[in-house]
Amino acid sequence: RPRVLSGIQPTAGSFHLGNYLGAVRQWVALQESHDAFYMVVDLHAITVPQDPAELRSNTRIAAAQLLAAGLDPERCTLFVQSHVPEHAQLGWVMNCLTGFGEASRMTQFKDKAAKQGTDRTSVGLFTYPILQIADILLYQAHQVPVGEDQRQHIELTRDLAERFNSRYGDTFTMPAPYILKETAKIYDLQDPSAKMSKSAASPKGLINLLDEPKVSAKKVKSAVTDTDTVIRYDAENKPGVSNLLTIYSTLTGTSIPELEQKYEGKMYGALKTDLAEVMVDFVTPFRDRTQEYLDDPETLDAILAKGAEKARAVAAETLATTYDRLGFLPAK
Ligand code: ATP
Ligand code: MG
Repeated sequence: RPRVLSGIQPTAGSFHLGNYLGAVRQWVALQESHDAFYMVVDLHAITVPQDPAELRSNTRIAAAQLLAAGLDPERCTLFVQSHVPEHAQLGWVMNCLTGFGEASRMTQFKDKAAKQGTDRTSVGLFTYPILQIADILLYQAHQVPVGEDQRQHIELTRDLAERFNSRYGDTFTMPAPYILKETAKIYDLQDPSAKMSKSAASPKGLINLLDEPKVSAKKVKSAVTDTDTVIRYDAENKPGVSNLLTIYSTLTGTSIPELEQKYEGKMYGALKTDLAEVMVDFVTPFRDRTQEYLDDPETLDAILAKGAEKARAVAAETLATTYDRLGFLPAK
């Protein structure tokens, strides 16, 4: 079975709809066909300041949401990044092989740093894509299911795998991004030119899966569309409507042409009302399942402990080979 690896940050508590449609949904599907490793990336979360008690709680909430979304610990390896020390260890090695200039070209860093201001930006945020390289290469992953915003980081990972392999001998599997075109980028409901993101300008365009279903329904109903009236998929000229159609189509399994037909001659209001209902039907059981996992923290922690053990077995082997290739003197 080919291997997949991916991670999600425990920063905001709730996942947003972009996280789910762009990434987590694919994780669930891929556990059936792949040897899958999925993690809550708490080391990445501290690239921006975190309250310790909240970080600990959000890490469990993230794991609970992954299980609620359909990850099955019998079918995949689910763990917390900091439980596997090899991530930080290989991360250092990758830091030393990455050029400062090439790291400086990462657009996510530039965007986030510009928002925060340089004085408040950590060196960790700058090198986070390099830790991500280690995350992926440690597991010899063939594919990395992520949203479009991660494509550049996967490209850098490929460059580094290639660089290490040619300098020190074949060590790392060459990973490829696994990005589904339809859901690669879910847009903000208030600003359909921006990616739906935790750090959105206004919370009105952001669907948090753990919010009260009523709140999410309201956000859908007040989504920005356009001055035209036709319900048609046209990402360039009708980004708001197209985003709603993508969300509707993915959550219900109805194709976009079918939806266009269904709403022919109808108003935007009809589409939004129906999608609001679809959203409520989706988030309600999701929230309940998440809460069930959170109500039983011993079981949740046991799942994560078992996952970390399985992950460490793979990660330790890759790290040992890497250290050997680099010429580190083995500890006797
Ligand atoms: P941040 O803005 O702090 O980076 P995030 O919302 O991007 O947070 P991450 O934990 O960094 O959350 O990303 C988890 C996964 O969700 C990644 O694979 C990322 O590509 C994907 N993702 C995030 N936002 C979207 C979106 N709007 N559409 C599709 N995929 C997304
Ligand atoms: Mg992100």
